[in-house]
Amino acid sequence: MAHFWLQPITPFRHLLRGHRVDPGSLQTRLTAGVVLASLVGVGALSAWMGWRMQEIMLNSHRQGTALIADRLQEDVRYYSDTMTPQEALDRVVDYRATGDLAIWVVTSTGDRLAQSETLTMGSWQTSGVSEALLSTPLPMGVKILPVQGWRLVVCASPLNLAGLPPATLYIADDITAEYQGLQRLMRMLLITSLLLISLLSVAFALYIRRTLSPIRQLNRLAGQVTADTLDQSLNLAAAPTELQELVRSYNLMLARLSKAWGQQKRLVNDISHELRTPLSLVQGYLESTLRRGQNLSEAQREGLEIAAAEASRTTRLLTEILDLARLNNGQGRLNLEPTDLEDVIHMAVAIAIDTQGCPAARVRVNACAPTVVQVDRQKLCSALIELLNNALRYGDPQQPVQVSLTTETGWATIQVQDQGAGIPAPCQGDIFEPFYRVDAARSRTSGGTGLGLTLVRSLVEAMAGQVTVQSQPNCGSVFTLRIPI
Ligand code: ADP
Repeated sequence: MAHFWLQPITPFRHLLRGHRVDPGSLQTRLTAGVVLASLVGVGALSAWMGWRMQEIMLNSHRQGTALIADRLQEDVRYYSDTMTPQEALDRVVDYRATGDLAIWVVTSTGDRLAQSETLTMGSWQTSGVSEALLSTPLPMGVKILPVQGWRLVVCASPLNLAGLPPATLYIADDITAEYQGLQRLMRMLLITSLLLISLLSVAFALYIRRTLSPIRQLNRLAGQVTADTLDQSLNLAAAPTELQELVRSYNLMLARLSKAWGQQKRLVNDISHELRTPLSLVQGYLESTLRRGQNLSEAQREGLEIAAAEASRTTRLLTEILDLARLNNGQGRLNLEPTDLEDVIHMAVAIAIDTQGCPAARVRVNACAPTVVQVDRQKLCSALIELLNNALRYGDPQQPVQVSLTTETGWATIQVQDQGAGIPAPCQGDIFEPFYRVDAARSRTSGGTGLGLTLVRSLVEAMAGQVTVQSQPNCGSVFTLRIPI
């Protein structure tokens, strides 16, 4: 049973499902504002209605009691023509009194001239109300008094009748039942108001949520925009006018961004293309001059060698920029084929050793078992060559570079591990960004372009794989490629 009460009622459950209440959100603020306003509005209306009903009831009793006091004097005068004033007073007091209304007359010396039977019998007597009323000095005028748990309207007025000493007339009207009825009514009014406020709150919360849903939709759509989808405009069909205007401006901004992005990609592509051909020519010319120039001085040879090395590095840089641009443009199509990963590793190791000019024994390959996976052989090989080049360049030349191949459920894992300078922890997240280098001077002298790891990440992600790094400064680094099987 207790468990049942802890369950939020259905509409609230719908509102809360999967959502943390965010106090800073527009929805929470608007809902809180509306709930507060309805609380104040409905609360004030209920309080005013309760107060008015009580006033009307009490006023009618006050007036009724005052009227009886007036009439009683006239009646006594009328009966005094046919009987003594005392008899007339007794008669009128008996005639005017009822089960809920008690009348008594007291002289200034405290003698009771007359009193209705109500005071001497029934509940007035047994509850002690009569005794309390008769023994307490009561103020002149009409008052509502609580007596022994009862509610009474008590009217005290001077009574001057011919033939009788000056006295005070008291009339007490029992309004307990009506008062309790009114209290019950007020309690019901309070409960109804609370129910109404709760219902209004739920209705408003749902309405506000519905009204704000296009903003959430716009946010979701905007979050899905990537460099590749800049040319697709957003569409919010049933949104309010203000949001439609926002969507229109947003689409215009996207169109401008898409145009600028396209221009930038074309520019990079064109420049790389235009520069690569003459640079290759320059490099070829420099290398042939070096080969044939038997009579070059030492200084001339050194100068030409530096120029050839720089031309070669810049050509490589341009090639990598073009490869990256093609991958990002979606032009670099994947040629997926069943590939033995161990074969690819051996091919990449041979190329890297040749490029870096180091002994073959420096790289050790450790493959668990033949693993055949659907990948683009060339692209995976390029990624591995980049990782191996880095390991050979930045690793300790006296220590081997380990390459391992393992498989686990759904994934083939290739790790390239070196024992070298390592990468400081704060830089590990940035090394996959274009042109990021931990030590720019060192990378440059070792022939790095700053694009190797960016290319690795793009190549691997194009094949739905992942690349991560674990490294400790002065211990070495492990680059891990995970390819889905
Ligand atoms: P670069 O062409 O400069 O090597 P990369 O994108 O391949 O560019 O690598 C980015 C940077 O990450 C490098 O400049 C280097 O500082 C660091 N780095 C990459 N691999 C290693 C490694 N195996 N050991 C230490 N540092 C590395």
